[in-house]
Amino acid sequence: MRSLDREVFNQDLFNRIEKVITDYSLIGPDDKVAVALSGGKDSVLTLYALHGFKEKFNFELVAIAIDEGISGYRADGLHIARLHASKLGIELLEKSLKEEMDITLDQAANFHHTACIPCGVFRRYLLNQTASDLGADKLATGHNLDDEVQSFLMSFARADTRRFAKFGPKLDRIHPRMIPRIKPLWEIHEKQVGLWAVLNDLEVHMAECPYAYTSFRSHLKNFLNQLEEKRPGTKMNLLKSFQKSFQFKKSRLKVADLHECQRCGEPSSSLLCKACEIREEITGD
Ligand code: SF4
Repeated sequence: MRSLDREVFNQDLFNRIEKVITDYSLIGPDDKVAVALSGGKDSVLTLYALHGFKEKFNFELVAIAIDEGISGYRADGLHIARLHASKLGIELLEKSLKEEMDITLDQAANFHHTACIPCGVFRRYLLNQTASDLGADKLATGHNLDDEVQSFLMSFARADTRRFAKFGPKLDRIHPRMIPRIKPLWEIHEKQVGLWAVLNDLEVHMAECPYAYTSFRSHLKNFLNQLEEKRPGTKMNLLKSFQKSFQFKKSRLKVADLHECQRCGEPSSSLLCKACEIREEITGD
């Protein structure tokens, strides 16, 4: 592709990300925004896009990387995360599950039929805790349109309607220590994120996690990709349907629904938060 075409592609992509930021008021002036940076293409694009909008929207940017303890996989992602943060001059805070909770995902994987459940719980826990300690106002994740539609359908298939309140491009603050999450790539297809990385010759972590095959998400992802191939526009239509209906549950999740975990003091809807509960299951203490 010629450099002019690349510029047009980049401009269009960034315009669409900016539209999500403004349409849903994702970032306010003087906000401190922490990007969850894994080194994968989605989080790298989120970092570059927000870096590009920093002056325009007048906010501060930091990044957080989590080492879940997945041997043979996570180290490369962390290396790439450091590379991009340093290239853009963005402070990067690294947290390791082993150091923070004395457990690794490789250990946790033996206790669950899918490693993705403890992985998601621990990662969200450490990201939120770190963002909160940093005094961040928002936690930006690289969730794209494909991720969001997959998550929505996963909850739908499990009849887990409580999770519907957690969808959308912005999750409000429902507890003083719960940092609102924002998803600037909410309307961007995964394919376009990949194309952006290739066209701009950016190093991103492309390796597949060794546990990915265990997840329900990967089955749904393949199914949705086949559908999209046969009927282009299906994913966007699913997102639109979801966009029209997800709001109805949002008001139900209030501060009153969350208290503090008896063990670690982090926000929780039960006596023990999910991270402490899973850790106890595995280590027995
Ligand atoms: Fe974690 Fe599952 Fe993603 Fe691997 S595929 S990083 S276990 S959520």
